[in-house]
Amino acid sequence: MDGVETHSNERGGMVEGRIQVGVMGASGTVGSRLVAMLVDHPWFELVEVSASERSEGARLAERMDADASSLPPALGELVLRATEGAWSAPLIFSALPSGIARAVEPALAARGHLVVSNASAFRADPGVPLIIPEVNPDHLSLVGEQGHPEGGGLVTNPNCVVAGLAMALAPLHRSFGLEAVVATTFQAISGAGRPGPSALDIVDNMIPWIGGEEEKIAAEPRKILGDPGAPADFAVDATATRVPVLHGHTVSVGVRLREPATPEEARAAFETFGRTARLGELPSSPERILAVTDQPDRPQPRLDRDAGDGHGVTVGRIRRGEVMHLSFVVLAHNLVRGAAGAALLNAELCAARGMVASGTPTAAP
Ligand code: NAP
Repeated sequence: MDGVETHSNERGGMVEGRIQVGVMGASGTVGSRLVAMLVDHPWFELVEVSASERSEGARLAERMDADASSLPPALGELVLRATEGAWSAPLIFSALPSGIARAVEPALAARGHLVVSNASAFRADPGVPLIIPEVNPDHLSLVGEQGHPEGGGLVTNPNCVVAGLAMALAPLHRSFGLEAVVATTFQAISGAGRPGPSALDIVDNMIPWIGGEEEKIAAEPRKILGDPGAPADFAVDATATRVPVLHGHTVSVGVRLREPATPEEARAAFETFGRTARLGELPSSPERILAVTDQPDRPQPRLDRDAGDGHGVTVGRIRRGEVMHLSFVVLAHNLVRGAAGAALLNAELCAARGMVASGTPTAAP
């Protein structure tokens, strides 16, 4: 890390002089995951948390959307503050609903905070990088063009389906060139956040539409797999469905390639990428970012979503198609690789590149 003294730790890297971080939306599904992942983080120290007016003034442990019993007392006792207003931490995670994120995130970046966001508000903005660290870390160069003061900026991670899908598409696009993608999703209930669909709607059922999702699944892989400011040129048709699974988004994918590949060649591309694209210097990077299963009935959410502690993506059922060149199935944990873990990896990448201001930002506009 630039400018930061490092000390060894079980997860590797710095302990002393950790970077202070805040979490906006800390009581929500994604925010609570982030809080749990920040416990004992070697580079980051959680010092500030916020939620809506409903939760303001409550202790974090009382309002987390997760079992708070294993939270260290110092974190559990953090008081949920208002999301608006001045923050002290130089690095702030956003797990806010998109509407409020649209107002709050640029204001914080303008005050010199690095905002690492899960929200969709700015993902499609050509000036805001949409990052999967192992796929397009070079897109971080866009932060330097955002015009914020030193240390200020906005970085986003993809939609929870796209996090796994784009990871699987990356080696195919690089080796053979993507021409067209057809993706049908089977998305877990936790992807909807609280309160999510009612039990009466989702038990013994599936819902063949998720508002706004198909547009994101079409646009985001093109942005991630293109150059900064110049999306990749392939077509995507998406169908998004909600299924009665708690965590783990599964996607059935068909691809047409510019240079047709056999299932064996595609498998080799997935395997090589899964082994070599890892960013070992980031504490949360899993050993295998993408793994191939040859079992005909895998991947399955319950069996495969926790690969690499939830940061790993699993691909299976790779086969030749009659309509598309190849078909396969991708699975990723929507709350880890698809949300909290994605933001954490992005923050680690920014920290490793020396993009986080060392002092407390003070330049209120
Ligand atoms: P959630 O469970 O509904 O949590 C939302 C959080 O934001 C809560 O802490 C809530 O506080 C807070 N909040 C709500 N309205 C607010 C306001 N007006 N001002 C300040 N804080 C407010 O949602 P989620 O599923 O965690 O999703 C959070 C963000 O991540 C969303 O933008 C979502 O699209 C995105 N995302 C989610 C997933 C997923 O798998 N769930 C994946 C990728 C991205 P209270 O507790 O006080 O209401």
